[in-house]
Amino acid sequence: MKIRIIKENTQDNWLELEGSESSVVKGKKLEPIWDTHIICKWDGCTDYRHYSNGYDWRHDCKEGCQCMEDYIHICSVDGFIEMLKEVRKIGKEFYKGKSGEEYWD
Ligand SMILES: [Zn+2]
Repeated sequence: MKIRIIKENTQDNWLELEGSESSVVKGKKLEPIWDTHIICKWDGCTDYRHYSNGYDWRHDCKEGCQCMEDYIHICSVDGFIEMLKEVRKIGKEFYKGKSGEEYWD
């Protein structure tokens, strides 16, 4: 994941970021799609939005759009990371010796 600050939207009490997972197809690196939009607020809360199907976060989203917007409001990034680590640990234990184990290793 590549993340950069959106300078034109950022102020002293408002930090906006955009993210892109690097895409490599047949060994060739593709242009990044900035499909993730993150707002880090002054109060420690974070709004995380991710768009699928090749949509940039800046697209003109209308009803029926195929971007499959995902939204998560995170009050504590550290708490969220700890929860995800626990989910990963439980998933890893659950899939040990089963189909899908390689994805959890
Ligand atoms: Zn959309």
